[in-house]
Amino acid sequence: MPYSYDSENIFAKILRGDIPNATVLETEFTLAFKDITPKAPDHVLVIPKGAYVNYDDFCQNASDPEILDFMRACGQICKDLGVEEKGFRAITNAGEHGCQEVPHFHMHILAGKVMGPLLAD
Ligand code: 5GP
Repeated sequence: MPYSYDSENIFAKILRGDIPNATVLETEFTLAFKDITPKAPDHVLVIPKGAYVNYDDFCQNASDPEILDFMRACGQICKDLGVEEKGFRAITNAGEHGCQEVPHFHMHILAGKVMGPLLAD
């Protein structure tokens, strides 16, 4: 079944300019901004401008230029954050089992501290 996109989700509103955000990078197909409740000293959300519900939807249905642009944007953010020496964590949550809160695909890029185990028990 194809994914159904809710155009009233909070990131769609950010993309429309209806609510503000702290942008760190904008490209043709991608927007990156600071998470409103950061879970690490650096916590950036990277989102495609296109209407994709989650990572699976994006990987299956986005165009090659959108996917390339998104991945390059993630790389640029890592470079700008200076994570080469200490590292970082990139996470994307999907759906109920992934505990996704906002149904617009986003990659969390977290850096600036030791992240601990991948999953809580
Ligand atoms: P998820 O649980 O869907 O993977 O992550 C959603 C993230 O979006 C959370 O880390 C949350 O803090 C962030 N978030 C929710 N609403 C807003 C908002 O209005 N602005 C920003 N910048 N981040 C938000």
